[in-house]
Amino acid sequence: MTDTPSDQTRDRARPASPTPLTLLGLGAMGTALAEAWLAAGHPLTVWNRTAARTEPLAAKGATVAATAAAAVAANRLVVVCLLDDAPVEEALAGADLTGRDVVNLVTGTPGTARARAAAVTARGARYLDGGIMAVPPMIGVPAAGPYVFYSGSRALFEEHRAALAAPAGTRYVGEDAGFAALHDVALLSAMYGMFAGVAHAFALVRGESVDPLELAPLLSSWLTAMTGSVTATARQLTAGDYTKGVVSNLAMQVAGVPTFLHTAQEQGVSTELLTPYFDLMKRRLAADDRNGAEDLTGVVDLLRA
Ligand code: NDP
Repeated sequence: MTDTPSDQTRDRARPASPTPLTLLGLGAMGTALAEAWLAAGHPLTVWNRTAARTEPLAAKGATVAATAAAAVAANRLVVVCLLDDAPVEEALAGADLTGRDVVNLVTGTPGTARARAAAVTARGARYLDGGIMAVPPMIGVPAAGPYVFYSGSRALFEEHRAALAAPAGTRYVGEDAGFAALHDVALLSAMYGMFAGVAHAFALVRGESVDPLELAPLLSSWLTAMTGSVTATARQLTAGDYTKGVVSNLAMQVAGVPTFLHTAQEQGVSTELLTPYFDLMKRRLAADDRNGAEDLTGVVDLLRA
């Protein structure tokens, strides 16, 4: 017998083990998380500085706490999704954290996560840090591929894994509380590098009779084709030999740099996004003629120097 849509909805709203939890912060991301937990049938207590934001969630079954301390007191599992670390400090300051499982989804640095882990643990709680790899519309939509990096207490993660998985997939990356932030920022940093390249490409054609909408699919498929370089770089870093599997060597690529700079000048486009990377390529080549047989992996070492 197949389930009717209403059976499926009921099942979705009745998880195998409903986990009561608290959520501090109902901004764009917090609200999306709250809706996903409610839709999955987990009893939810919410708190937000601006109380009006709790109302739509109360209508969907959330319990509203008047203060952050009261919200923390309501459940063992406490998820925090405030703007940055300062409001986290403020919200947790007056709460009794003894025996709580605190999951901090606020975007921050590895150092901030480690300091927060130490502070929370010293107050008698377990701590898990998270880095959300999604935007709010992806939350609760598995097909969109949202996930969260988690690091810190493995015991906490394992115990609450099912509830944590309701809004987005979970990827545990280690006991070091800073590792979720490290992975999060590494991925987002690469993304900004890509955004920089895309901005430069559109700037080059701006003012010419090239429709950005016609360039877009070409750009998009070219960037996708180039993603193979990510694994190639990782292989070379792991092997410690940057001359293995080279497709386009550094000497050739550096020889091409003037073309990129002169094209930008001809088009009246600033080279400020490109020159830092080109300068690193040239430095790597200049350091040792033999580096010309590598590709671009040596730049990683220059950045760490
Ligand atoms: P919003 O700006 O939409 O919401 C911010 C939240 O923080 C609100 O609940 C706001 O309360 C609260 N807040 C801000 N300052 C204070 C304060 N001084 N005291 C108490 N509460 C405060 O941000 P998001 O919900 O989008 O982001 C939340 C976290 O999620 C951030 O760390 C963000 O980096 C991360 N994230 C967000 C993504 C996104 O695309 N939105 C993607 C991945 C991660 P109030 O309603 O009262 O203003």
